Amino acid sequence: MTLANPALQDIRGKIEKSAGIAGRKASDVALIAVSKTRSSDEILPLLNAGHRKFGENRVQEAMDKWPALKEQYPDVELHMIGQLQSNKAAEAVALFDYIHSVDRSSLIKALAREMDRQDHHIPCFLQVNIGEESQKGGCDIAAVGQMLAQATTAGLNIVGLMAVPPENTNAVPYFALLAKLARDHGLEGLSMGMSGDFEKAIKLGATHIRVGTALFGPRAQQAT
Ligand SMILES: *Cc1c(COP(=O)(O)O)cnc(C)c1O
Repeated sequence: MTLANPALQDIRGKIEKSAGIAGRKASDVALIAVSKTRSSDEILPLLNAGHRKFGENRVQEAMDKWPALKEQYPDVELHMIGQLQSNKAAEAVALFDYIHSVDRSSLIKALAREMDRQDHHIPCFLQVNIGEESQKGGCDIAAVGQMLAQATTAGLNIVGLMAVPPENTNAVPYFALLAKLARDHGLEGLSMGMSGDFEKAIKLGATHIRVGTALFGPRAQQAT
């Protein structure tokens, strides 16, 4: 049985509408519910409403929450969206179904090695530092081609590009640039758009949107 969830229904409606305006199908946009900092009790209502795609930004936090939830809901799809240390590659490959934050050679090598070792090959996104901000994760825009070539050599399956545009600016030019980079490199996946701007991201081609506060309410602690 599925229980109605007003926030989820609201977002689904907005996805439908933005996709329609762009001449796209809502089913081509994956909604990732970003559950970082949320307890299992906060996550359960979404699971009970039938939602299955979730995003976390810390390996340890995800390992504390998701194995138990996955036992109850084995068809859950888990997305790693936060910065990843190479020494957490083994845990990440074991737990997650997608990794959105591949952004450097050492991580490409560590993930490829673990995926071979565990025989668990999961699709990845290359994260691009689209606003060229020194404190942000993501590879340089100029390095995208080189990173993709390294991933291919290592046997890592990169399905698209991911970015988090600078805060408090109009995200549209950044979304458009990420979409162009993906097109130029023949990649179909575009992981972009959060609570405040996912409708714009969908109009510019997002295939994966990452939505936290609009689904769960404001976060108590600010996770980065
Ligand atoms: C926290 C986070 C989100 C979700 O942000 P909201 O504004 O709460 O929707 C999306 N992507 C990344 C990488 C995040 O860390």
